[in-house]
Amino acid sequence: MKRPKIVVLGAGYGGLMTVTRLQKQLGNNEADIVLVNKNDYHYETTWLHEASAGTLHHDRVRYDIKDVIDRSKVDFVQATALKVDHQAKKVILDNGQLDYDYLVVALGGASETFGIQGLDKYAFSIVNVNAARQIREHIEYQFATYRAEEVKNPNRLTIVVGGAGFTGIEFLGELGNRIPELCKEYDIDQKLVRVICVEAAPSALPGFDPELVKYAMANLEKKGIEFMIGTAIKEATPEGIVVAKGENETEEIKAETVIWAAGVRGNPIIEASEFENMRGRVKVDPDLRAPGLSDVFVIGDCSLVINEEINRPFPPTAQIAMQQGELVARNIARLVKGNTHLESFTFDNKGTVCSLGDDDAIGVVFGKKVTGTKASFMKKMIDNRALFMIGGVPLTVKKGKFNIF
Ligand code: FAD
Ligand code: NAD
Repeated sequence: MKRPKIVVLGAGYGGLMTVTRLQKQLGNNEADIVLVNKNDYHYETTWLHEASAGTLHHDRVRYDIKDVIDRSKVDFVQATALKVDHQAKKVILDNGQLDYDYLVVALGGASETFGIQGLDKYAFSIVNVNAARQIREHIEYQFATYRAEEVKNPNRLTIVVGGAGFTGIEFLGELGNRIPELCKEYDIDQKLVRVICVEAAPSALPGFDPELVKYAMANLEKKGIEFMIGTAIKEATPEGIVVAKGENETEEIKAETVIWAAGVRGNPIIEASEFENMRGRVKVDPDLRAPGLSDVFVIGDCSLVINEEINRPFPPTAQIAMQQGELVARNIARLVKGNTHLESFTFDNKGTVCSLGDDDAIGVVFGKKVTGTKASFMKKMIDNRALFMIGGVPLTVKKGKFNIF
């Protein structure tokens, strides 16, 4: 009998969890497993703010996919997936096509610009290793050019961060540590540098514990970060950004660096493939299949799972993507073994820790609030845990964060 073919799209948190679990649960003769990813490496999306600020080299945030897959069981295909044809059970790639019996879509998210003019052209987003490298180099270039130019352009030393969600705040934490280093390296008076965070909601980290938010803002302000809270970005221009001011007025903020960290949506392939979706995310069935498609599972930032307690979607996180990957592997293994009774997904929320730079953080872990070095230690342990879950001890030793204090 022909072995079923399982195709997993994306080697991020969700995709690699699926594949590393499937390779344990299925024997060589039970199924053909194919993993498709754009690059031959996985990157830790949750560390990209560090690579973007330049506090961690971009090679530290990525590792070779071949180091974590069992190549006797998994075929790795380096390609960009363009579209899923669910009727023909095929995936169209930039270099060919693949048919499947079971498909897992784990392609991550994309920046959500809400149609705000100019953002696509003039702002950066922290979305992958290439973007992180570009942001780091762009900021360094502004400092170097400011130092070298005869007629100084002060806007080179202004950085705007759009959004004080977790991504924005974590990036600001890194910038708070990186700016003094850059000033020293390029002989620039730190008083000339401005880092401005613009947040539309009435608070930073909307919905998070107010005491912890206050702690985070106070510590970031001590490092020179300015906050414009309750202020929405309306446009990005070649000179900077335009923000809403009062009812009908606007204000221009000149800045040579604008980082848009104000939202994510699902991968564009979801819309291109005509899945039923909300902002590129598929509201999946309890067993994580796409509605009406018995052979397609969607996980991670491409999926939408409702938190029944508040009747709102769970925020897209690595934590949920990894748990979904584990469940999908178990469900596909069942189907391959002829068991059609699938498990339903329940999110086991272990908490949230938000880094404020290498030495500080805030968080709520198992219902308890943590701050400072203790929270920072926990954040590093969470980062190491993700490595351990996918690549075991060898990967954790190779890539882990052990610069504890
Ligand atoms: P990803 O891990 O992003 O992986 C997607 C993979 O698909 C990538 O390898 C990509 O190269 C590949 N890919 C994309 N498009 C294609 C294509 N067309 N063809 C082939 N391959 C493709 N969450 C937490 O839980 N904790 C945190 O501390 C945390 N920190 C974060 C910090 C930052 C700066 C950011 C931006 C996010 C953070 N998140 C955090 C959110 C978390 O990173 C995402 O929710 C998580 O990465 C989603 O996992 P995923 O498997 O869906 O996608
Ligand atoms: P987000 O959607 O959580 O936050 C975006 C922020 O931008 C919001 O505060 C929003 O009010 C603001 N915003 C939206 N439009 C704006 C505008 N026009 N002008 C100014 N501000 C605007 O996005 P994120 O921070 O990128 O996080 C994405 C996901 O990744 C979330 O699920 C988050 O939980 C997760 N994440 C988790 C961690 C962590 O656990 N440490 C770190 C980073 C990201």
